[in-house]
Amino acid sequence: MARARTLTEFQASFPNELSCAEFLFERRWPDGFVCPACGDGRAALLRSRAYTYECVACGRQTSITAGTVMHRSKLPLTVWFWAAHLMATHSNGMSALQFQAQLGITYKTAWLLVQKLRRSMVDPEREPLEGVVEVDQAEIPFRADDSFFNPVKSGKILIAGAVEVIDRGANQAKPRRKGAKYLDTRSGRIRLAAIPDNSAASLEAFVRANVKPGTTLLTDGHRSYPGLTDYRHDPRTVGKMAAHVVLPWIHRVFALMKRWGLGTYHGLRRKHIDTYLNEFVFRYNRRFYRHVSFETVLGLASHRQPTSYWDIIGRDTPRKGMTTVRRRPRRRKTATGIRQDGVSQPISGSVAKSSALCDGSLERRGAGPCRTSRGATLGVRSCSGRCAGIAATASAIAISSR
Ligand SMILES: [Zn+2]
Repeated sequence: MARARTLTEFQASFPNELSCAEFLFERRWPDGFVCPACGDGRAALLRSRAYTYECVACGRQTSITAGTVMHRSKLPLTVWFWAAHLMATHSNGMSALQFQAQLGITYKTAWLLVQKLRRSMVDPEREPLEGVVEVDQAEIPFRADDSFFNPVKSGKILIAGAVEVIDRGANQAKPRRKGAKYLDTRSGRIRLAAIPDNSAASLEAFVRANVKPGTTLLTDGHRSYPGLTDYRHDPRTVGKMAAHVVLPWIHRVFALMKRWGLGTYHGLRRKHIDTYLNEFVFRYNRRFYRHVSFETVLGLASHRQPTSYWDIIGRDTPRKGMTTVRRRPRRRKTATGIRQDGVSQPISGSVAKSSALCDGSLERRGAGPCRTSRGATLGVRSCSGRCAGIAATASAIAISSR
């Protein structure tokens, strides 16, 4: 059902939150619930938290969105599903501004949404390119300020690119003798990366990271390549001829990428350049079967830590290292009684039942010291109102019974 190709099919598969949740549950636990902490198969669906299951054996709460791109998001699942479908099937992708209009969310939300979806567009187990590979570098302009894209005012980023050359007849790579022409070919998978300079070190690092050793490299004969001795190097001297004639496929990839950056994003920016390049590579490599990448975009079965807002903007969260102070400690019902978060023993009856608010007046009225756990952790017999909202039911009962 995730393989829906058309919008109508997609809408029929995921009409509401429940259908999205069922799909996620099915993907996460195809054979029924399994607790990630203890492996127990019994769980209760919590009413107080959306789509969260609590293990009956150990009390661990697991959300169906945990570990996916939707991790800890407060957006409706339907919005995420629609966004992922649009992102995966749209041939050029969509900017945050378009998502804002199409999904009815704020720009800030839309921006974070597309950044997260874009970051899941890298397959962590992707295989290096092999066979016959064209390698080259190109310069692309980037937007330097917030005004409209102006090529004169823009800076330049160096991009290294590699593309597999596939023989049309054999439908696979066919290495030929050195200097021979590769006619009647098509492009296979591609890789792109921003490189700091044209030096041998950066180009070698790019090739080694993305191309399998032993591959035939078709290059423009740049002096940075000869260091790659474990590859079969087949340099093409460009001379007077236009470079796109000798290395047609990599130049087509660069041209498409430049058009894409201008058309979809109105000029790429240096800050997120690798994310943009990864998105382009992802789209290009799946150009014949876009709809199947829906699940990859949603981050299902990615086994990666989801990216947070702070990871994306590259700053530390200001709340880092600060503990959350709860005004009311969370309590949960277990088989042996009420248990407070972080406490292994069930809380004794009287305090466990507390629910009325304490404003310190109980103590001031002489009804006895506050006996909440907060009062106890403060290390005082009387809370003087410091228990901040947790009642001492025992005292309250004592008052009412007088
Ligand atoms: Zn468990």
